[in-house]
Amino acid sequence: MMPEATSYIEISRSAIANNMAFIRNMIGEHVQLSLVVKGNAYGHGIETYCPLAYEAGARHFSTFDAREAWQLQQSLPAGHQAVIMIMGMIEHHDLPWAVEEGIEFFVFEWGRLEAALVAAKKTGRAAKIHVEVETGMHRTGFEQEELKRVFRFIKAHAAYLHLRGVCTHLAGAESIANYKRITDQQKRFKKIKAWVESLGFSPSPAFHMASSAATIRYPRTRLDMVRVGIMQYGFFPTEEIWVHYLSKQKSYENPLQRVISWKSRVMDIKDVKTGEFIGYGNSFFTNKPTRIAIVPVGYGYGYSRSLSNRGKVLIGQIRLDVVGTVNMNMIAVDVTPLDKVQKGQEVVLIGKQGTQEITVASLGDYSRLLNYELLVRLPHSIPRRVVD
Ligand SMILES: *Cc1c(COP(=O)(O)O)cnc(C)c1O
Repeated sequence: MMPEATSYIEISRSAIANNMAFIRNMIGEHVQLSLVVKGNAYGHGIETYCPLAYEAGARHFSTFDAREAWQLQQSLPAGHQAVIMIMGMIEHHDLPWAVEEGIEFFVFEWGRLEAALVAAKKTGRAAKIHVEVETGMHRTGFEQEELKRVFRFIKAHAAYLHLRGVCTHLAGAESIANYKRITDQQKRFKKIKAWVESLGFSPSPAFHMASSAATIRYPRTRLDMVRVGIMQYGFFPTEEIWVHYLSKQKSYENPLQRVISWKSRVMDIKDVKTGEFIGYGNSFFTNKPTRIAIVPVGYGYGYSRSLSNRGKVLIGQIRLDVVGTVNMNMIAVDVTPLDKVQKGQEVVLIGKQGTQEITVASLGDYSRLLNYELLVRLPHSIPRRVVD
């Protein structure tokens, strides 16, 4: 028997299906959808999230590293039809494994290109590669001057190197402040695309550059495939992109649904007299008789200490204050406004209860953390449960 965890993360099957249908509908049937599941599927948990996305029709996944690709592979049904693509780190000694398994990967430097050929010869199968090109992000990607040599090399070893894609990444399509930089990148990539097409690779590689923000804000960047991360989990990348999306709509309804919820339970209840400090130190002082509920989550479970005296939770469909400091394993919640509170009662840390909702963004309080960071910080160790 496995003892209970102190909190659970719920993953909504219907929200995943809703978000995928929204994205699919937006991009149309001729653009492929790759779901970006790096960062443990943006904190949702690869093992839980990816099989549900597969069930909802996902057939292309992008990870950052080889470990994630391996985890993803384990989580999908045997004989699955999905393409797995590694966009970032894979050690040379793991390349034969990737080639053997038919896992695709980005190549952005000469060493990996040569190692891919070695791995392909060793396994007797072709490596499926995506050449990443530099267009202005200045992170990873072959420089323009190198491209002739790169594609000549791929052509010369066509039996072992299958060119599946040519791609680049935009340096911040979620903000209009980057408009010039982004449109310059698009122009450069367009030229590279035309030139690669003239080289006559058959079948033609897929050209891809768009993330969630670009998919919405710059529809021309969708090309053959979009690599969508944050949107599939129910979030617009930034407020700016949300407003841009709304400006083109007739209604103000959010078409996306949050996939994740985080819930715990009341562990203990205590009545405190007027004029006492609560918890460690002196950060919260009662100026009235106060009823406190203790909830077994804290910074050790990813509930940030910066939410001390600031966080909000839902109990009994009421929004309540976290009082005192967030401890490693516990928080205290002022439940005085509730008529009734019981041990074991549900506590919502992220998600809905009745008509109230705690958003992921609100966990970032004043620090203006992005949804991206808040999500990936949710510890892997909190059990994930599938709900409808
Ligand atoms: C993270 C990432 C994406 C997805 O970005 P979102 O903003 O979450 O849609 C796409 N491509 C690359 C290369 C990435 O690293």
